[in-house]
Amino acid sequence: MTFFRNFLVFAVIGLVTVAVAYGIGLWRLAPDRSVVDFLDIGQGDAIVVRQGKTEVLIDGGPDRSVLSQLGRVMPFSDRKIELVVATHPHDDHIVGLLDVFGRYGIGELVIPRALSGESAYRPLLERAERFGVPVRTVTSGDRFILGNAALTVLWPGDDCLDRLAGLEFESGEHDPVNVCSLVFRYDHCDGNGCRRALLMADATGISEALMLEDGTLPSADLLKIGHHGSRFATTAPFLEIVRPKDAIIQVGEKNTFGHPGHGVLLRLRHVGAEIWRNDRNGPIRAVPEGKGFGVEER
Ligand SMILES: [Zn+2]
Repeated sequence: MTFFRNFLVFAVIGLVTVAVAYGIGLWRLAPDRSVVDFLDIGQGDAIVVRQGKTEVLIDGGPDRSVLSQLGRVMPFSDRKIELVVATHPHDDHIVGLLDVFGRYGIGELVIPRALSGESAYRPLLERAERFGVPVRTVTSGDRFILGNAALTVLWPGDDCLDRLAGLEFESGEHDPVNVCSLVFRYDHCDGNGCRRALLMADATGISEALMLEDGTLPSADLLKIGHHGSRFATTAPFLEIVRPKDAIIQVGEKNTFGHPGHGVLLRLRHVGAEIWRNDRNGPIRAVPEGKGFGVEER
């Protein structure tokens, strides 16, 4: 009887451990499953797209806090991130990435070709060289297939900086590095249908207008809005096309930039989007399901 009781106790402990690990997301995903985490790293961007055994880290926030946040979402036995993307070389997106080298194995570093000559990328490119990580430059139309999901580069094309010459800007919306930051379209399909997200990095109203001009802008179920909710992004004509059900704002508490702008919140509500923001909701998780995404605080 004692043996049977001990066996039962160990079996229950084992099952509970597995259930807890699965519940808090530390287990590897099934091959057709996908999860998108918007990490809570203060004022900046850091997004983890997981599909089966593959992980993609899009930006790393402003400091080392990305490491503890990654620890919350990476499978505990997985020390490799297949793709690390630096959408543009601003500190609130790439400084945290420097610490990810060395802590995790990295398959490839991805940057937009339009900005590959920017000197601000140098520390990151040096880190990649030191750790033997290949660098891939990408342009609109390039695609990463992740099982039954895909990340497609929607913006920028190689001529992004040239297209800005001669355009008239309102002050505050004209930083060319923001305008030409890397925008992804994420598509996930399974037996229950397909859903789409747009990850806008720090793209501004100018980027949105040029994408509209190119006719490349799709509708999407979920939108990670551009530039932390800056009033110069997430314009009404853009939202009329995208019409997201859920909108994520990666923004830090008490930031000094006035993000997110009041007008942006009004515009999002006008198209019926539910608003999620890291400064209020903490870490946010989006899981493709049904005709869209199940979004929740983590
Ligand atoms: Zn930013």
